[in-house]
Amino acid sequence: MNFDATRRQHDINFLKSNRVDLIVIGGGITGAGIALDAVMRGLQVALLERVDFAFGTSSRSTKLIHGGLRYLKQLEFGLVKEVGSERAIVHKLAPHLVIPEKMLLPLYEGKQMGYWLTSLGLKLYDFLANVRESDQRRMLTRAQTLKAEPLLNPTGVKGGAIYAEYRTDDARLTIEIIKTAARHGAYIANYAEVTDFILEGDHVAGVHVKDMRTGAGFNLLGKAIINAAGPWVDDLRERNHSRQGKRLHLTKGVHIVFDRKRLPIQQSIYFEVGDGRMIFAIPRDRFTYVGTTDTGFEGQKDDPGITPDDAIYLVNAVNSVFPSAELTLGDIRSWWSGLRPLIHEEGKSASELSRKDEIFESPSGLLSIAGGKLTGYRRMAERVVDLAVERHFSERRLNACNTRHVPINKVSFQDYEDVRRFQADLIQRNAGWAEEIPRLVALYGSEALNILNGLPQDRQVSSLWLAEREYCTRHEMVIDPEDFLIRRSGLLYFGCDLMDGEFLKRLADGDEASLARMQDVLSRQRLFSL
Ligand code: FAD
Repeated sequence: MNFDATRRQHDINFLKSNRVDLIVIGGGITGAGIALDAVMRGLQVALLERVDFAFGTSSRSTKLIHGGLRYLKQLEFGLVKEVGSERAIVHKLAPHLVIPEKMLLPLYEGKQMGYWLTSLGLKLYDFLANVRESDQRRMLTRAQTLKAEPLLNPTGVKGGAIYAEYRTDDARLTIEIIKTAARHGAYIANYAEVTDFILEGDHVAGVHVKDMRTGAGFNLLGKAIINAAGPWVDDLRERNHSRQGKRLHLTKGVHIVFDRKRLPIQQSIYFEVGDGRMIFAIPRDRFTYVGTTDTGFEGQKDDPGITPDDAIYLVNAVNSVFPSAELTLGDIRSWWSGLRPLIHEEGKSASELSRKDEIFESPSGLLSIAGGKLTGYRRMAERVVDLAVERHFSERRLNACNTRHVPINKVSFQDYEDVRRFQADLIQRNAGWAEEIPRLVALYGSEALNILNGLPQDRQVSSLWLAEREYCTRHEMVIDPEDFLIRRSGLLYFGCDLMDGEFLKRLADGDEASLARMQDVLSRQRLFSL
């Protein structure tokens, strides 16, 4: 059965009348990882997402699978080691989607990052993350640094470093893991909100679910329940009357996107700005995105938004390092804004808070997991499923966690070389689409072939996008056009230069309400370029 709206209805119908082993609340990367881990162990799993998969933080990150150099500064060696080794595993599981990327770190006179300390730190980073020799950090002289990135402000540059990272598409990583969990038998529904808990005695025994498409409610019983609702974790703990002790501290992070021509950097760059914070500038397709801010947040979590201050901060940061670009607010083509669900620590500022994950266990048996990183999703899942198994299924003979061996794409690639061979072959056979194929392969892996197969020969980009939409509707449970625009294809951010009213009309396919919503989403993106 395709992973589409019919499958969603099928799964909801099943859940209406059957009890499951494990209910996972939240379809971000954390919930996705848990669902896959649990189903591979042999549990019957339901995953419920209130809006769309990756609607929360998991579509609004810096889109890096990284070892977290900044955690070294905070002396969190354990975290660096864990996420450092995890990135290599996730790359192996999805080499088309988690792509090696060399990061340039320019070093300036009088800034926090000293040359020798950075050299030593990166060496330690490579050691902790077990980076293979050919990928280990390379220190650069001033001349080499300026040659690597001619756009850099030369004033005060004393050298630089190149080190290994991986880039990804966060929302696609999430959907691929969810599809994999579904292929292995998990019951999955987006637009299905958990509105309350069902108690048996003093134990949670299920949830009330509201189908957000029809408004109808139903009860779902489950032996174990894991709350993986990201920034909303505390709202559910509150409903479970268990928001005691540690709580979440939400911080907002904004990214802005420029045309690559306006910020034509040669590679990804991680640079320090005036206030000592570190900012990424990352090229992607025809664009370069820059982020992130890190400020305390209290407000409407669905849409944390961007303020003029956020945008001005980032534009100034970029101009301080790449002054010749002379960027203005008017150059911002698109943006996104997300919330970090961090664990509160008394007296610490937003950027000082640890990115470690934490599990909360309520007296009624609800397990909640928050904090952490996109990069560490697999280990987070392993830890919390281990605990759920210990609490609820110790008498069952279940498989051990094996997600490090479960590829996250239908047809798996051996390694990145294999991906490149596939891509070159696809280009050779579809020369007219050569420019678009790297993007398609990075997003859809081997499924790029299916998308291209269904294409008319007119070679118009809008036809390609419609073929992508068609694929995502049939195989990735796109329910609302926004799901496709933002979280399956990323076109709202990385295709906005080609997106016009005519295309939106074609995408809405006569549905006036969808069209109005998409026009609204698009117009909000243009806020600062008016
Ligand atoms: P979410 O993705 O928010 O998922 C929770 C889901 O639960 C949401 O989709 C929500 O709709 C759903 N939900 C809420 N309530 C309910 C309910 N009642 N019923 C059903 N569903 C519900 N990490 C990295 O490794 N690399 C990076 O480059 C990186 N950059 C970042 C940059 C920024 C600006 C931010 C904010 C974070 C970044 N992170 C990064 C961290 C990473 O993105 C997050 O740790 C991760 O995405 C959190 O995923 P999650 O699944 O826990 O939460």
